[in-house]
Amino acid sequence: MSDAPIPLLRAQAPPPAVPAGPPVDSLYVHVPFCAHKCEYCAFYSGQAPGEVIQRYVGALVRELEVVAPDCRPRTVFFGGGTPSLLNLRQWETVLTTMHRVGLGDAAEWTVECNPATVSADKAALLRSHGVNRISMGVQSLDEALLDRLGRVHSRDMVFRSVDILRAAGFDNLNIDLMFAIPGQTMDIWHRTLDEALALGTEHLSCYEVIYEEDTPLYEQMKAGEVDVDEDLACDMYEALVDRSAEAGFQQYEVANFGRRRRAGETVDRPDVEEFIPAFACRHNIGYWRGRDSYGLGPSASEWVRGVRSRNWSNTALYCEQLEKGRRAKEFAEALPPIGRAGEMAAFGLRMNAGWPFGEFKARTGFDLRDEWAFEMTQLQLRGWAERTETHFRLNRKGLRFADSAAEMFLRLEGTAVGK
Ligand code: SF4
Repeated sequence: MSDAPIPLLRAQAPPPAVPAGPPVDSLYVHVPFCAHKCEYCAFYSGQAPGEVIQRYVGALVRELEVVAPDCRPRTVFFGGGTPSLLNLRQWETVLTTMHRVGLGDAAEWTVECNPATVSADKAALLRSHGVNRISMGVQSLDEALLDRLGRVHSRDMVFRSVDILRAAGFDNLNIDLMFAIPGQTMDIWHRTLDEALALGTEHLSCYEVIYEEDTPLYEQMKAGEVDVDEDLACDMYEALVDRSAEAGFQQYEVANFGRRRRAGETVDRPDVEEFIPAFACRHNIGYWRGRDSYGLGPSASEWVRGVRSRNWSNTALYCEQLEKGRRAKEFAEALPPIGRAGEMAAFGLRMNAGWPFGEFKARTGFDLRDEWAFEMTQLQLRGWAERTETHFRLNRKGLRFADSAAEMFLRLEGTAVGK
């Protein structure tokens, strides 16, 4: 990975006083390494030599120890990057640390995997330490499109990985797919969707290709080398919503679909409420509902008791700071309560359930019906939303434009408290 040179750190303002409270019950860990950088990817991730990965593991152990006294996670999510790129010994170090410091008893523990890096040994190790959900970055099951995206795995590796994970005892798998990929026809999308559903996955996350600045795909788009067809993208999204529903999935967020519990199925995951299926990702629901969460690893963001902060997107600097015994924070800011409430309103509207008025008020102290009455009416007039006695939620059309709808609910900027 080509990190920027280590920035000179200015004297830091005193860290914001995080008020005492019950331990935070959500934990995210960013593993910033990948075998190869995909054409479309703007995440902080990339290739790195073995000694850098080893140094990162040491720093992560330190960071886990630092946050452990204030964290009792119900959900854990290792994302990236490619967490499955860590070797067996590195995983063993991380997993035993998680248990030693009291972070290893989550009800839902997800690890993201690339199908090229799933092995029977690794799957068994993760499962035996309490990891119970695997999220696989598949993106497509069409070989030509996998090449086009710069993915390192083949379609066969996807099928093999699912078999390996099932044999290791994983009964909760997610598959990530992308649509509106340059060169992807509706036929190809239908085939990929059908094959993914036939794999028996419990969850699908499906994203439209985004042309992020500083990615090869963005440069190709700027140079006019790719056709961007918004109508086709809309049709693909509609096909996704319909086909997944036919296969027993329920959409519970703009891009996320979970399988409902089948009659007679004995899983420890009841359908939570009308709009949230049994196999929804509880960790991500926490984000959309504004739950506090620690974020560890380079570039990871966190939100803890009114303070939002982010680690440096620089692995060398991250390691250096942790080796000195302190967390590697690039910035921290406290949002005014109305600003945080606006963010929570915006995120929550991404869910099909929308916001129950009572829950929103209990979490933020603000009433959607008072503070955002104008915006809610506007969305209803556009035909994007519905309002009941108890809820406000986007409808099928509104969810397609959830980003624009959500933006209307944002309020004031935060106040920087340390850099
Ligand atoms: S594997 Fe994921 S994180 Fe890594 S480069 Fe590709 S899209 Fe980005």
